[in-house]
Amino acid sequence: MNNEMHIAVLPGDGIGQEIIPQAVAVLEAMGKKLGLAFGFEQAVVGGCAIDQEGVPLPDETLRLAMDADAVLLGAVGGPKWEGLDYAIRPERALLGLREKLGLFANLRPAVLYPMMADASTLKREVIEGIDLMVVRELTGGIYFGQPRGVEAFEGGERGFNTLVYTTKEIERIARVAFDVARKRRKKLTSIDKANVLESTELWRRVVTQVHQDYPDVALSHMYVDNCAMQLVRNPKQFDVIVTTNMFGDILSDEAAMLTGSIGLLPSASLGSQAIAGRPECLKGMYEPIHGSAPDIAGKDMANPLATILSAAMMLKYSFGLNEASTQIETAVFKVLAQGFRTPDIAAEGTKQIGTEEMGRRVIDQIKAL
Ligand code: NAD
Repeated sequence: MNNEMHIAVLPGDGIGQEIIPQAVAVLEAMGKKLGLAFGFEQAVVGGCAIDQEGVPLPDETLRLAMDADAVLLGAVGGPKWEGLDYAIRPERALLGLREKLGLFANLRPAVLYPMMADASTLKREVIEGIDLMVVRELTGGIYFGQPRGVEAFEGGERGFNTLVYTTKEIERIARVAFDVARKRRKKLTSIDKANVLESTELWRRVVTQVHQDYPDVALSHMYVDNCAMQLVRNPKQFDVIVTTNMFGDILSDEAAMLTGSIGLLPSASLGSQAIAGRPECLKGMYEPIHGSAPDIAGKDMANPLATILSAAMMLKYSFGLNEASTQIETAVFKVLAQGFRTPDIAAEGTKQIGTEEMGRRVIDQIKAL
């Protein structure tokens, strides 16, 4: 088996420049410890790519991402580029990468670290023990359906979008979700609005069919309005949630915010392309869920943990290195348990540190494990 793991490193803008080096250092430390050969290649993306190359996703960056086994991305955007035409805004790079890499499944875990319970706006007894994963369909549904537009209508205008899903699209996202559930507590909740929307009636039917191949996973269905309510009422009932692009957009933000700390939340986007020589491993893009935080960029204040945890997801989902992935998560847990916090999650009685020191402390824990 080819042992080299090629990672395209795209720091992007703002705090992306500060948090990505920490995640790369963590991967390097893990590689050294376990004798894993990671190869890193870096390129510009987003606003800095616009400044340098005139476009948010230069051909060279795209080629690097497509040739790599996995992509580690920081964040893109910032006030400097906000006035630009929508077609060349930094955020277009993300859409371009998702499309060209065929990333149709977005995985967002929401885990509450016990020592962070006070950061949530919900009561401790409601959120303690949360460990759920939202699997969102990323390339179909109402965000991409045709026809779409705004047109003249009866003396005014008419805006319209199309919610469309094919059997194939539903089947492939369902399989990703069942596979994820299989590696966790084996419980999958599929979210739809089958009582009103025919396209999600099909969604429910196809997910139920795919379930036949996963008899060891318990499947239930829930309407999206009820899910939005259950997430704040009793989030611990969920293990894996699978849903459409738009419902997932909303619910994954809601689920993420249960934990109250944006700087701690990683994400993975997967396609169906296997890595050469590793048929069980999928190419993917890994990034924190937050943006480029221009308000704190360059001040050594950014929390690198969401990016470090995204790197841990990469090891698990793209490289099948579950033990190494768990070690990174454990190292993060230990640093938090020791009371170290970046300013965004600092509370009374904790020790405030900067981006670089947080990265260093995670590496020290990895070495000590
Ligand atoms: P943001 O996530 O960048 O910041 C929101 C708030 O959270 C800010 O106060 C910021 O300081 C804080 N924050 C975010 N990440 C943090 C971290 N790791 N550590 C400490 N604090 C952190 O969202 P925004 O302010 O709405 O957007 C800023 C820019 O980022 C915009 O240009 C937006 O388009 C872009 N953006 C990019 C992505 C992405 O690249 N995936 C996602 C969201 C927003």
